[in-house]
Amino acid sequence: MWGASEICQSCGLVVEDDKYGTNPDGTFSEDYCSECYEEGEFNEPTIQMEELIERSARKMCEDGNISEEDAKRKLDKAFPRLKRWNDTW
Ligand SMILES: [Zn+2]
Repeated sequence: MWGASEICQSCGLVVEDDKYGTNPDGTFSEDYCSECYEEGEFNEPTIQMEELIERSARKMCEDGNISEEDAKRKLDKAFPRLKRWNDTW
């Protein structure tokens, strides 16, 4: 239904098909995973980018063959391009 794996535009992790967040009208968000976003709102609206990078790096490190440091380096580059973090203030 969603095609190739997508990256959550908030936490930078790959979103599995059944892990998408939900919009206020109950449809699935195409941008965010259910851990970040539910019913049209971020679960942690005040979280800082750096905090989320650390958390995601830890998860990537648990899930795959990547060290937490490498994961963090990747995410440091990827995050500023994600929708949630890329607002021009
Ligand atoms: Zn997410």
